[in-house]
Amino acid sequence: MSLENEFEHQAVLLEEAINYLNIQADGIYLDGTLGRAGHSSAILKQLNLSGKLIALDRDLAAIEAVKKKIKNKSLILEHANFKNFDRVLNNLEISAVDGMLFDLGVSSPQLDNSARGFSYQNDGPLDMRMNQNQNLTAADIVNSYSQTDLEKIISDYGEENWAARIAEFIVKMRQESKITRTGELVEVIKAAIPKGARRHGGHPARRTFQALRIATNDELEQLKLLINKAIKFLNPGGRLVIISFHSLEDRIVKHSFRELAKDCVCPPDFPICVCDKKAEIKILTKSPVQAQKEELDNNPRARSAKLRVAEKL
Ligand SMILES: [Zn+2]
Repeated sequence: MSLENEFEHQAVLLEEAINYLNIQADGIYLDGTLGRAGHSSAILKQLNLSGKLIALDRDLAAIEAVKKKIKNKSLILEHANFKNFDRVLNNLEISAVDGMLFDLGVSSPQLDNSARGFSYQNDGPLDMRMNQNQNLTAADIVNSYSQTDLEKIISDYGEENWAARIAEFIVKMRQESKITRTGELVEVIKAAIPKGARRHGGHPARRTFQALRIATNDELEQLKLLINKAIKFLNPGGRLVIISFHSLEDRIVKHSFRELAKDCVCPPDFPICVCDKKAEIKILTKSPVQAQKEELDNNPRARSAKLRVAEKL
């Protein structure tokens, strides 16, 4: 395994996440993104025999690897996407937990899977659907959205400086023939970004592919839903810790927390409250927690990591 891959699996903001979870030895916790069990191992260390940790991963290989590595009666491993944590808890007849952790950066094997069209390294169909039952594919977006919409997606979700030119080149290309392969899209992107302007280190298609993945799977809306659902499954005083790696994701976390922490949302000129909205959480991180220098030196991936915490009232 290359060093870069090794970095991808190091648990980010480990100490900070564990401290914020405020673990009670006999509590019940949920790690929505097991990965290499970096965070999970640290949680287990603080649990006694009556404590429980439910850890999920959508990758069966990750589950199997951790099963071999960690023998701990407090650990319950479940093969599931973190978005479906509520189904897992219902099956286990657990109505609420004392803390939840979601590390949105835990890499999914799908993202390296060229057959599903996530990869800009290998050619494959331009698909990118996480859910195979969904109709919309990345190819649909690339071949049917307007130039303006494409530019907006690539700029907003990909934070790509060359979004306007890439959108222009996509539209020009698709007039000749539909773009159906990841390899074709990579060629269009390479043509759109002048060689001299390519930021060193990264692949020129990385940002555009990220943008299309987010748009295809409606990832930001899904994150909003996840946060609202997670709060419902917390015991009073229980904490929700979210680590994101993308400024748009962090913005969603920030705004969702803010909404949930609001008491009344009536217009200010209403004489009395008619909305009956009550704050559900207290925000514990006014600004996001970021990695310290020592961690950054050891794990360059931690650079973009932001951690936010809310406590259920
Ligand atoms: Zn009100």
